[in-house]
Amino acid sequence: MKRDVLVFGELKSGNLRSVSFEAVAAAKKMAGDGQVVVVLIGEEVQRYPKEMIVYGADRVLTVEHKNLKKATTDGYAQALFKVIEEEQPDGLIFAHTTLGKELASRVASRMEAGLVSDVTGISREEEVIVFTRPFFSGRAFEKKVITEGLMMVTIRPNNIPPLERDPYRIGTVESVDIEIENLRTLITETIDNKRNGLDLSEAKIIVAGGRGVKNAEGFETLEELAEVLGGTVGASRGACDAGFCDYSLQIGQTGKVVTPDLYIACGISGDIQHLAGMSNSKMIVAINKDPEAHIFNVADYGIVGDLFEIVPALVEEVKQM
Ligand code: FAD
Repeated sequence: MKRDVLVFGELKSGNLRSVSFEAVAAAKKMAGDGQVVVVLIGEEVQRYPKEMIVYGADRVLTVEHKNLKKATTDGYAQALFKVIEEEQPDGLIFAHTTLGKELASRVASRMEAGLVSDVTGISREEEVIVFTRPFFSGRAFEKKVITEGLMMVTIRPNNIPPLERDPYRIGTVESVDIEIENLRTLITETIDNKRNGLDLSEAKIIVAGGRGVKNAEGFETLEELAEVLGGTVGASRGACDAGFCDYSLQIGQTGKVVTPDLYIACGISGDIQHLAGMSNSKMIVAINKDPEAHIFNVADYGIVGDLFEIVPALVEEVKQM
């Protein structure tokens, strides 16, 4: 089997997102003996092809233009249409991020392609590529195939492991010239809101707080734990609605979907809408003073008690390690 698969290599704040490497691994599974071609769009993208090649890309296409310095769906979609026209790939992979989701739906609509979103696993059954994705807020998984034409998917970060880094791997790098016309929006400045330099949807360790954290000062206690563990802070909608923290931290059905290696839920009751965003985390630790709290149903480890005693004790314990 031979399929050429294009990967949109996503950058954020001047760095390659780790999900871009996971997308290359996903593309390898789809490609068989075909090529994995990564497209990098933006500013000074010439810096990144080598990193994509050592993680499995066969070719890297770089697209630079004065109107593509900051990502807009409009501009990036124009660039992608041009690349797709020239490359005629059999498959196309995006990260299941805000930008990836927007671009994938626009490109799929224009190309009249089948799109499977939020994919967490890819397998091959004889010649057929099967995509696994969660549904019913993560309570069940379904398997999907695209029956004809261009196969498009978005992959959920932290689910498909990247390939092993091979510093001796060889690939080619080509730059693509492109004209960008009639852009309706242009981003002139972005103001980053992420904490600890870590992006919530890609973080390996998340310490999340709920209404039980009581106030914004309570979140400082969680930040301390996140810092000693090398993780970042998230929140329930209860905590965001109460004004304890910013909505960019919200995890759940109407917030971010996360799958870290470790999720520590502090003062979160575990309502279904919150579970939708975190129940596929690899290990869940719940701290709650109510032994009947629903969060304990999905937790691997449960601590019944007051988070204001337990979290500082954990911080001290980790510092001793
Ligand atoms: P609560 O339910 O009030 O729970 C607080 C918990 O803290 C309790 O279990 C309590 O025992 C515990 N606690 C209190 N004090 C302490 C202490 N000192 N130590 C330890 N434990 C303590 N919610 C989301 O999170 N994400 C979403 O994306 C989301 N989307 C939604 C979409 C829709 C359409 C709707 C209707 C709701 C949505 N919700 C979402 C809201 C959701 O239903 C819950 O209301 C919310 O998750 C509750 O937040 P919470 O667990 O922080 O608060």
